[in-house]
Amino acid sequence: MASPYFQPSYSDFETFKRDCDKLSEFYKLYAARFTGGEALLHPDIAKFIRYPKEIGLAEKNCVITNGISLLSAKDDFWEAVDYIHLSVYDDTGINYQKIFDKIDEKINQYPHIEMLEVTKPEVIRKLAGYKADVESKGAEVNLTFGTFKKLYSTTVKSDEEAQNIYDKCWMKDSTFAVHEGKFYKCPISLIKSKLYRQENLSMPFDFDSDAVDLFDVNAQENLDRLLNSTNFLQACKTCNGYNTAIDEPQSQLKVIDIKDVL
Ligand code: SF4
Repeated sequence: MASPYFQPSYSDFETFKRDCDKLSEFYKLYAARFTGGEALLHPDIAKFIRYPKEIGLAEKNCVITNGISLLSAKDDFWEAVDYIHLSVYDDTGINYQKIFDKIDEKINQYPHIEMLEVTKPEVIRKLAGYKADVESKGAEVNLTFGTFKKLYSTTVKSDEEAQNIYDKCWMKDSTFAVHEGKFYKCPISLIKSKLYRQENLSMPFDFDSDAVDLFDVNAQENLDRLLNSTNFLQACKTCNGYNTAIDEPQSQLKVIDIKDVL
């Protein structure tokens, strides 16, 4: 979806639809998560989040958002969304109270919205107060507090180090990514390859080799091999690993910060 750190572009629905149709031949998912950048910047977000459920690919959908566009989201979005993952950046001057008020209103209107997940340790106290306030009015909100992991590493790991962080990493077994016909075992491989291409830099590793072409005649066999493999991914060479990375306050990165990680 749209991201301020990539060249301005929006995912094409027909490409997305084709990928979902193909993926559904191989797997059924619990939840299809939509991220960016900022997923809600896409003008057709409701159409995207509905589709995996419509074809039986996923039971649920989840949208990861900084919340700003929730204030202007149309009813077709609220009707379609199951989970909202709100990333809170309190270094930006965003008025979260307005966003919380909007979510209150919409949870009351659309009770199927099951969970509001928030990541930002610094605002836990503020949000805990919000949760208590919402629940005192009879509405239910499930706030789970995670932490932001600093995955990007500017130092290149040895094969042994990469294998070690991969072995401990939760992401490799839980969060896959699909983009333009490719299935990635870890979204970091996709993000890295896109960033290097955008900056016209030669890739230090072949991040594309961490993916499988969904339209290859041997796709099922290749997917099984990738998912069952115990070998580290190329992206692990420049990653701190989800379970071994340090926790860091979540913040809105500037373009220079993005370039720093390449
Ligand atoms: S690239 Fe990082 S997050 Fe992804 S599997 Fe490797 S260590 Fe885990």
